[in-house]
Amino acid sequence: MSSRRLQQIIPSVATSDGAGVSLRRSLGQSQSARVDPFLMLDEFSSDDPNDYIAGFPSHPHRGFETVTYMLDGHMLHEDHLGNRGDLLPGGAQWMTAGRGIIHSEMPQQESGRMRGFQLWINLPAAEKMKPAHYRDIRPDEIPQAALPGGGEARVIAGSIVVEGREVAGPVQGLATEALYIDVHLPAGGHFAQDLATGHSAFVYAYEGNLAVGPADNSRPLSAQDAGVLSAGNSVEISAVDGPVRFLLLAARPLGEPVVQYGPFVMNSREEIEQAIADYRNDRLV
Ligand code: FE
Repeated sequence: MSSRRLQQIIPSVATSDGAGVSLRRSLGQSQSARVDPFLMLDEFSSDDPNDYIAGFPSHPHRGFETVTYMLDGHMLHEDHLGNRGDLLPGGAQWMTAGRGIIHSEMPQQESGRMRGFQLWINLPAAEKMKPAHYRDIRPDEIPQAALPGGGEARVIAGSIVVEGREVAGPVQGLATEALYIDVHLPAGGHFAQDLATGHSAFVYAYEGNLAVGPADNSRPLSAQDAGVLSAGNSVEISAVDGPVRFLLLAARPLGEPVVQYGPFVMNSREEIEQAIADYRNDRLV
């Protein structure tokens, strides 16, 4: 088997969403910029409250999962099920929209830094209409493993193996078998991990520049770019010119048709029209 190589780079673009939150979107900026089952990845990072204060007021979702991972700042999540959760630095929120959720995500600060990510993961057709499910993950529920050679990895979903020991994140048992890890490496540091053969995978560098791939066949990946990995059963990533931080995501591809209309992601045009009609008639959730 083989070490995965950097196959395609999706540079992030500046955009805004919600009521006017500035962010950088890599996956999801166009319909071709997806890595099945991953639909979208946004990074928000700003010290200027004008970039985030408007937040994400009440809005619907159907047919997929949203994962918010906070690095800095404080947001409050509320949904129609009565869930209310604080998003704090180092914590995450795993929200399975299923047939429908109506929620808001609003900043709880008027100054200081707000920084984090929102990832959208598709659901298989068989799970798109299941009841909505919400999970708040406190920072101390996310295991942090020291890496040989320096640095650390935080495991949000799925499992990795570090020096022969399995490190399992709090989110397990998804149909997509998603792996979501946040890796920090010192200058010159190196990260190697087995990845399930046949799973899609990408890396998002959010601080510093990476070299992705085996030492004799690596390619550079710059900060704020997503790098899609080729097939293979492992990945190697190095810090080239200073310390780096990156997300590594992998999952079983669904191989199903994707029809998206804003916050609704279904398998057919008819199902999207149904979602719009349900939302208009208060029958989404
Ligand atoms: Fe949302």
